[in-house]
Amino acid sequence: MQPGPTRNAYLDALGIDRWVLRQGSAEPAVLPEVPAGDPARERALPVSPVVAREPASAPAPAPLPLGPISDWDELRERVAACTACDLCKTRTQTVFGVGNTRADWLVIGEAPGAEEDRQGEPFVGRAGQLLNAMLLAIGLPRETVFIANILKCRPPGNRDPKPEEVSRCLPFLSAQIALLQPKIILVVGRIAAQTLLATDVPLSRLRGKLHHFGEANTPMVVTYHPAYLLRTPADKRKAWDDLKFARATCQRVAGAN
Ligand code: URA
Repeated sequence: MQPGPTRNAYLDALGIDRWVLRQGSAEPAVLPEVPAGDPARERALPVSPVVAREPASAPAPAPLPLGPISDWDELRERVAACTACDLCKTRTQTVFGVGNTRADWLVIGEAPGAEEDRQGEPFVGRAGQLLNAMLLAIGLPRETVFIANILKCRPPGNRDPKPEEVSRCLPFLSAQIALLQPKIILVVGRIAAQTLLATDVPLSRLRGKLHHFGEANTPMVVTYHPAYLLRTPADKRKAWDDLKFARATCQRVAGAN
């Protein structure tokens, strides 16, 4: 996306300073003005994502208990009819996921909230609006990516997903990944990241690294949940670094194919 009024508006929504192109720098950067040698400099520099030498490769989710799924319509029907856990008793409707089923990008969140349960679409509340702004800031209108959650039903009171709910629901996400074959997975939030990476390492140590997921070894980048960023705007700067890292990774993967 070209820099311009619209893009600048989304960078403003993210609380991100506009890019300042430094002479001789290929990558646009906004570096804080802290003199070299000042101990504050290290703290102030944006995290530069490190590609893990030995990428943390998450085990593939359990095999589908539903048999092979051949297409999106069949998968949608299976999700809509699911009664594999108690969340089916309290949901208004399932929240399958939304977007371009040929997208390069798959965004994965945790679980539907109240508004998502009402509308049947992920990330439609305030956090969703920020997610849209984050995506648009890297040139991706919402409808160009696919957005899904680990859970397809809302946990009552927005509590954390229970392990058995996750294990019952994960095969649906696994089937979505198999059908979509994304070039990159962007995981938002601690719970989704820890679940997919099967770890309890804090999110602050999972971001800034390239992970890989599942049998296809799909590149995976972790960032903050937009609901967290609404509460902690100071971390939007780090989320912006994560988004740029994910975009560069996707471009590299696309270029290699
Ligand atoms: N938070 C999520 O993780 N997913 C949604 O769909 C909405 C809020």
